Amino acid sequence: MEASLTARDRVGIQDFVLLDAYMSENAFLDNLRKRFHENLIYTYIGTLLVSVNPYKDLDIYSTKQMDTYMGVNFFELPPHIFALADNVFRTMLSEFNNHFILISGESGAGKTEASKKILQFYAVSCPSTRLLNNVRDRLLLSNPVLEAFGNAKTLKNDNSSRFGKYMDIQFDHQGGAVGGHILSYLLEKSRVVHQNHGERNFHIFYQLVEGGEEDLLRWLGLERNCQHYSYLVQGRCAKVSSINDKSEWKTVRKALSVIEFNESDTEHLFGIIASVLHLGNIKFETDARGYASLNNNQEMHWLLGIPAQVLQRGLTHRKIEAKEEEVFTPFSVDHAVYARDALAKAIYGRTFNWLVNKINESLANKDSSRKTVIGLLDIYGFEVFNVNSFEQFCINYCNEKLQQLFIQLTLKSEQEEYKMEGIEWEPVPYFNNKIICDLVEEKYRGIISLLDEECLRPGEATDLTLLEKMEEKIGGHPHFVTHKLADQKTRKTLDRGDFRLLHYAGEVTYCVIGFLDKNNDLLYRSGKEVMRQSKNPIIQHCFPSTEPDSKKRPETLIHTQFVQPTLNQHVNNIVSPTGRFDDVLVRHQVKYLGLMEHLRVRRAGFAYRRKYEIFLQRYKALCPDTWPNWKGTAAEGVQCLIKHLGYKPDEYKMGRTKIFIRHPRTLFATEDAFQV
Ligand code: ATP
Ligand code: MG
Repeated sequence: MEASLTARDRVGIQDFVLLDAYMSENAFLDNLRKRFHENLIYTYIGTLLVSVNPYKDLDIYSTKQMDTYMGVNFFELPPHIFALADNVFRTMLSEFNNHFILISGESGAGKTEASKKILQFYAVSCPSTRLLNNVRDRLLLSNPVLEAFGNAKTLKNDNSSRFGKYMDIQFDHQGGAVGGHILSYLLEKSRVVHQNHGERNFHIFYQLVEGGEEDLLRWLGLERNCQHYSYLVQGRCAKVSSINDKSEWKTVRKALSVIEFNESDTEHLFGIIASVLHLGNIKFETDARGYASLNNNQEMHWLLGIPAQVLQRGLTHRKIEAKEEEVFTPFSVDHAVYARDALAKAIYGRTFNWLVNKINESLANKDSSRKTVIGLLDIYGFEVFNVNSFEQFCINYCNEKLQQLFIQLTLKSEQEEYKMEGIEWEPVPYFNNKIICDLVEEKYRGIISLLDEECLRPGEATDLTLLEKMEEKIGGHPHFVTHKLADQKTRKTLDRGDFRLLHYAGEVTYCVIGFLDKNNDLLYRSGKEVMRQSKNPIIQHCFPSTEPDSKKRPETLIHTQFVQPTLNQHVNNIVSPTGRFDDVLVRHQVKYLGLMEHLRVRRAGFAYRRKYEIFLQRYKALCPDTWPNWKGTAAEGVQCLIKHLGYKPDEYKMGRTKIFIRHPRTLFATEDAFQV
């Protein structure tokens, strides 16, 4: 690892912590840039991994590479995502506790790719038996399926995740992968009915139309032409050169069969996808009385397994219960379009959840013995467009929470631990984004509360009353501004319907129009009732007759969808430019991910810590004074042990209950001595 000066100049330093001098942001970027130009996309900050998206295939993920990294100490080889995966895996096995890998970065940074590399590494490296091979294939193949249904082309990323994913991989005592579980949250359903210019709907629609077998398309009543479907062409880029829908279709088909979807499941599933396309093509006309009427769509009603008249009425009328009587009031055309889109979103969203459940059934571990888990969190990255709406608000809030977690797990807890253990420590200041999280989620006066409150006043509340309410309740907040509240200079950059949040990652201006509708996620009762009559078993499952019609409190989207998975240790960071090394983009991420602060904490801190008892237990065999039976306290035993091992005074510190070791290398040497 000792590099000559020239090599070091050329390829930079592989662990920022090892740099001698105090490091400026420019020097930090220089190092990343140098390495990037040598195709070295990974760099450590201690146990944190920073990655710069190369946007080209590098030959660094082969099985041979995996072998190289398997079972090797973290810092002995050049930084790599496999080294991180291996380290987490081995720590989990030796300590038999759960671990967690957190991947963060802006949209397009490479989070999903990183999570796939980690999964592949486990698939190859874990001890195997025939039975486990099954689980492994399913774990791997759940990805293309989930991506087909949950990813889409956006302006930032041709394969952008439009849902948050938390995946548990469960291991037995021997380290064999025995099962898994996926938790998905907040799928961006609005994409089903609307896509911005340059964006697409979810991949699966295009895959089906482009790649679907002739017989299947005929059966579904679909034409092999995306231009034919109104839900597919709003972004005007149904075809993208970087995406091969035809071959992806084949991959998805194969994957579905491995994760135990039988013929009937797939038929029903694609029946639903096709019916969403048909639904989007329904046109409403104004009848003589000024109400909506629709052209008949044969395919759709039989695909959904619902009688034509029932479906037709459900799309053009709203059911109202008045004095024991059921009254159907007709919709205007606008209303009908809204009801149609709401139905399409609900069908797709609920089918997606069904799909995740079905995958989970296939990943479930039947054996109930105690297992350990490595969790992988891959969410959609922070997003800023020219116009940002409710969807971006949700995504960015999710990222804000993730950042808070990251801060808690690293900067905060690390420094608190030193304090608690009585280790001399000069606190490193960092920006705590709690203030912004509170602004969004605080009870009664946070933006979510205000939004939900307005959703409870149908007929009276509008998006603009929401804006007024926010101005009234949180107007003075330093991270919130609107046109009305802004000073003259800022006002010019805001429209009347805008509010701006100062996120940890930068300013984002949101247009409030549509917030109420989208949060209400209103699906008319008549729509739900129609779906309950479906003969399609997936739809029956998604719209159960036992579902209560919440009359009092609407189930607002943001409330029902945010699930906070249980989280644990390991943290991993991803930073990205596009193709070339994009200085502005990388600098921005270095800043907002707080990497400089991390570096400062790491440089001054300790890579490794263990309770005295555990440390002594593990290494006492290395010292004749402690082996086999040490009589004094554990702390004294450790003192005796490290004296024997020759630790230098600046390599470690003794805390109240733990020993802290500055560099991993010190410990690796001890491990090696232990294994000889
Ligand atoms: P989002 O938040 O939008 O889901 P993301 O962070 O998950 O974004 P990815 O989909 O993982 O981003 O990556 C975007 C694209 O960047 C990939 O489709 C791929 O082309 C490229 N890419 C990412 N990581 C790598 C890598 N390690 N090597 C080569 N290309 C990569
Ligand atoms: Mg992604």
